[in-house]
Amino acid sequence: MIIKFRKNTTKKEFDRVIQEITNFGFKYDILQDQGEKKNPVVGIRDECGDTTPGDFTKFDGVINAQKLSIPYKHVSREYKLKDTIVQVGNINIGGENNIIFMAGPCAVESREQILRIAQEVKDQGATILRGGCWKPRTAARCFEGLKEKGLDYLIEAKELTGLPIVTEVMSVETLAYISERVDLLQVGARNMHNFTLLDELGKQHKPVLLKRGLSATIEEFLCAADRIVYGGNPNVLLCLRGVRTFDNSQRYPADLYAIPDLIQKTHLPIIFDPSHPAGRRSLVPSLAKMAIAGGVNGLIIESHYEPQEAKCDGAQMITPEVLGKIINYAKQVEHL
Ligand code: PEP
Ligand code: MN
Repeated sequence: MIIKFRKNTTKKEFDRVIQEITNFGFKYDILQDQGEKKNPVVGIRDECGDTTPGDFTKFDGVINAQKLSIPYKHVSREYKLKDTIVQVGNINIGGENNIIFMAGPCAVESREQILRIAQEVKDQGATILRGGCWKPRTAARCFEGLKEKGLDYLIEAKELTGLPIVTEVMSVETLAYISERVDLLQVGARNMHNFTLLDELGKQHKPVLLKRGLSATIEEFLCAADRIVYGGNPNVLLCLRGVRTFDNSQRYPADLYAIPDLIQKTHLPIIFDPSHPAGRRSLVPSLAKMAIAGGVNGLIIESHYEPQEAKCDGAQMITPEVLGKIINYAKQVEHL
């Protein structure tokens, strides 16, 4: 339910309605407050059971109350028009902020590797360092990441460069451990449907980079984000990373079409990953540029100084020099 007030609603009138919402046992969000000299707007989080708009329009100050039936209500623009800004370390993502770049290897493979890449991607303009420590691999017995040791190295890279860090969390069991140590928690494509994990992510406050499932519809993707936001954590970044289609000419054909659709449907920031759709590094710059032109708030790009030496996803990793060219392109587009 969305409750809209008159511009000059008094504090007493406003508080009376808030009290009523609380009496019903509902949680709420102040979507626009009185200080903004606009019409205050309050959103009730729950579906409101048997309540009707009349339960709220009867109070002085209320212009109207409207029930929303969108399944991903809390992340929809109908619920909240204003862009959400997510803070990762000292970086603000979303709204009018500059396009941000997260970069680094697919996986942390050694102390030397991550310390060197961290410095190189920073020198090229990346502001968040990526590096998988727990890796979801299709075939058992592939390299599954250095886990706790890898995370220690990633933290050392953060200390060296000052870059905030993002790594993937694959299970509820490791969530608290990882959450205490990183700036941004990545949920991989294969875990977008892991509702137990999403619910736990909603109960803690570290920002979440939620990747779209390999075959998830946009509605399912937004519902997964809504689960985290509804759970109590508003800090969610949506990450497009290509999908499965009939066409196998790319690893996961790029879902660039979804960028303008998401911009219309949700107030959450949108990130694009050009590395996993491409599958091969020669395609990465073009995909990245298309996403920048499409209006994303940031990109996450796999980068390595010697991609052919990498233990996973070497074929799609670009060198820091190529990353630098993409970042320069973004700066030019931003000034258009
Ligand atoms: C990754 O970022 O390295 C990764 C495994 O991504 P995805 O979950 O999108 O496949
Ligand atoms: Mn990867």
